[in-house]
Amino acid sequence: MDTVKTLRKLGEKHGTPLFVVDHNVLRKNYATFKKYLPRVQAYYAVKANPDPAIVKTLFDAGSSFDVASMPEFNIVYDLIKRMPARQRQDWIWDKIIYANPIKVNDALRELDQYKALVTYDNHEEIRKIKKYAPNSGLALRLSVPNTGAMCELSSKCGAASGEAVDLILAADKAGLVVEGLSFHVGSQTTNFENFVQAINLAASIFEEAKGRGYTKMNLLDIGGGFPAPYDETVKPFSELARKINAELNRLFPKDIQVLAEPGRFMVATAGTAVSQVIGKARRNGKLCYYIDDGVYNTFSGIIFDHCQYHLKAFKKGPKEICTVFGPTCDALDVISMSEELPTNLERGDLVYSRNIGAYSVASATHFNGFEPAKIVHINR
Ligand SMILES: *Cc1c(COP(=O)(O)O)cnc(C)c1O
Repeated sequence: MDTVKTLRKLGEKHGTPLFVVDHNVLRKNYATFKKYLPRVQAYYAVKANPDPAIVKTLFDAGSSFDVASMPEFNIVYDLIKRMPARQRQDWIWDKIIYANPIKVNDALRELDQYKALVTYDNHEEIRKIKKYAPNSGLALRLSVPNTGAMCELSSKCGAASGEAVDLILAADKAGLVVEGLSFHVGSQTTNFENFVQAINLAASIFEEAKGRGYTKMNLLDIGGGFPAPYDETVKPFSELARKINAELNRLFPKDIQVLAEPGRFMVATAGTAVSQVIGKARRNGKLCYYIDDGVYNTFSGIIFDHCQYHLKAFKKGPKEICTVFGPTCDALDVISMSEELPTNLERGDLVYSRNIGAYSVASATHFNGFEPAKIVHINR
């Protein structure tokens, strides 16, 4: 684990803004996932943090991958290419699911040669897959309740349960093979009942499909949404895993292959931002700090991910509630309106923010001429 002392040293050595990735934490998170969900193969959702070094560490730990574009596919395929040629075909299926239900034609054209596993949720997509990537295996993405998730996803993706089997039969009729079902309960789901309900819904769709003569499904993809322990209100992963295992074992025979697409769970706790105070002012009596990282960079998750991050100082001193701004000229560039920080921070003093590994550098921009944070890897 990166200690506070290590973080400070790294900040001083490499300069700021800095993003520190601790690979021991990645391996630990992967092992935790495996330990509590032994029946489930983890397909790390590359979009959470596509850094190739992160993908490599998880690959070496035994992870598979969820990708949503050809650039993401190729980050993983670069690792698969090192495998002996005759193993590669199996590796594609075992290692990658292309889990974007809406795919661009060019991506499908390129994917076809790999006979990849892809998701879909509508009739138009069946026509596209049939035309451009007929050798793919399909998983139907279901819409499931996202109640209480930090980021809801079901408004954008997923077939309604009432049309699910029609979509399975339509793909079958088009000569495609539907291998199974997938869903996503919403990112950072702390309402564990979402998983219970979604697994039950999937089981009922399996039944209905069987009843209507479709018996080729052998795969269930329980998606992402596994919460990171951002604060003490998030219940332990072991508790969620217990619920999931109970439902899986009750509803799905052992020969059904179960996969999941954890993104945040794998990387959130592995990333720490180290930034520097670049300005200080009192506005309407409130202490304001300006730091060299903000919502257009590592803290982009505040906007895109609806995630709140907390800042800590290395320096000690009497504290008060402060506002912390990023370095750009945009008034949107607010990291927090209420951070408890020492009042004695000066220009050049470092601050840090933990658990910022997911949906952070992944969506950083170059807005206003500020470069994204430098990334350093420790315990690689
Ligand atoms: C974003 C995404 C994930 C990862 O979700 P997390 O909440 O980070 O676990 C998994 N699957 C799909 C299809 C996604 O879009």
